[in-house]
Formats: sequence, C-alpha cells, structure tokens
Amino acid sequence: MTTTLITGANKGLGFETARRLVGAGHTVYVASRDAGRGRVAAERLGARAVALDVTDDASVAAAARAVEADGGLDVLVNNAGIQVEMGDDQAVAGAAEVTAEMMRRTFETNVFGMVRVLHAFLPLLRRSGAPVVVNVSSGLASLSRMTDPGRPGYPYPGVAYPASKAAVNMVTVQYAKAFPQMRINAVEPGFTRTDLNGNSGLQTVEQGAEIIVRMAQVGPDGPTGGYFDAEGPLAW
Ligand code: NAP
Repeated sequence: MTTTLITGANKGLGFETARRLVGAGHTVYVASRDAGRGRVAAERLGARAVALDVTDDASVAAAARAVEADGGLDVLVNNAGIQVEMGDDQAVAGAAEVTAEMMRRTFETNVFGMVRVLHAFLPLLRRSGAPVVVNVSSGLASLSRMTDPGRPGYPYPGVAYPASKAAVNMVTVQYAKAFPQMRINAVEPGFTRTDLNGNSGLQTVEQGAEIIVRMAQVGPDGPTGGYFDAEGPLAW
C-alpha cells in the first residue's frame, strides 16, 4: 500500500492529483492550510485530511507527526504554490513593480515552504521502501526557455514567481543528489485553468495533473533529479 501526501490539495492541480492517486489505489492525505476546506475536499475524494500550512513550522511539524503516527509516508507531492505578482485583473507586476516583499512572500510559500515540508517529512520518507518526491515547478522556471523568444513563456514579465520556481528546480537537483535511494523530480504541469491564474490557463486540470500523477507513481528504477512535462524531459 502506497501512502501519499499532497500539499495544497484542496483545489486545483493538487485536488486533481489527489483524485487520480486515490483512483490508483494510494492512501492519500489531502494537505490543506485551511482544515475545513481540506476536510471537504478529502471527503469528496475518499482521502484523509491533514492541516498543513507550508509557511508555518508548527503546522508542518504537527502534520508530519500525525502522518508518522498513522503509519508513515511513501510519496510526497510538493504542490502548494502562489503567484503574488498577478493581480485580480490578471495583470502581472513586472520588473518595474516587483518589491523585496513580493519576492519574500513568494519564496516563503514556493521555496521555503517546500524545504520546510521536505525537512519535516524526510525521516518518514527515508523509512519507506520506495520513497518518491514530486516538486511542482513551472515552465517559467527554465532559464533555457525564459531566454528563448520562441517559447510561449518568454514574454511573462513577472520576476518573483519564475525566480521561485527556478529555485524549486535547484532544490530538486540538490535533494536528488543527496538521496539517491529516492526518486525526486520537478514537474511542469503546463498552463492550466486554476485560481492561480484567474482561470486563464489553456489546459484542464486533468491535463495539467498528468505529469504530477505520473511522477508520483515512478518506480525505484525511474528517473531522479530531472525536470519533466507531460511530453518528457525539459531543458533547465
Ligand atoms: P491553485 O488552484 O491556486 O492551488 C494552489 C493550492 O496551494 C491551494 O490549495 C492553496 O490553498 C495552496 N496553498 C497556497 N499557499 C499555501 C500554504 N501556505 N500552505 C499550504 N497550501 C497553500 O493553483 P494550481 O494551479 O493548482 O497550483 C498548484 C501548483 O502548480 C503550484 O505550485 C503552481 O505554482 C503550479 N503550477 C501551476 C500552473 C498553472 O498554470 N495553473 C502552471 C505551472 C505550475 P488555499 O485554497 O488555502 O489558497
């Protein structure tokens, strides 16, 4: 039996990933910063709910203790993420507007939050027979793509979100090297209709979750330390 925890799983790509992995037979923890929203989502899916705010040490530690007490963890999907530079009108604050505070808020969730969760759950993952980590990154994380005028993400003007996801990619590489017994990969879901982008994305959550679900199910002989979308490996 595989036990899987997905951060930010009360909606969007995390919720769809949870739905698919429940369907694949995983015991799934829907981790949500709002306990009520998490409970509702978990009930809809036939999953377990656990309160987990990635920006809060005590919350993450309590979630790790609860999951450990219930039997441990095999798969961690670091999905929770924010994009603070996009306003309600979907205008993206660019280099002229970005502030240190916007960078700090973004990194607090997307990068420090991911590391906080990894650090707390590492002891559980190290006890698994087949530990897997999926870090939800973005195509906007890719330096190759963001410097190629031919790529669709190139015109994106925001600084904080792409920089945070580039950091997610480096975190992935370094953890993968440190823990060769684990499969640790970064994934790019593609531009997907969710609240993150005011539902302006071009893909459905079913399409977006595809690579997250696939990498969550990778076997011990699968890739590690890579960066993938649904079509295959991506250039960093
Ligand atoms: P979403 O629908 O806005 O979902 C984001 C989830 O993260 C929500 O459950 C949210 O919880 C949660 N979250 C935010 N801050 C949190 C915190 N401090 N602690 C715990 N959970 C927190 O967006 P999404 O598109 O599904 O995003 C999921 C991931 O995919 C993100 O990492 C995003 O960067 C990445 N991504 C998305 C796209 C896209 O086009 N949609 C493309 C590439 C990558 P609340 O409901 O409480 O706010």
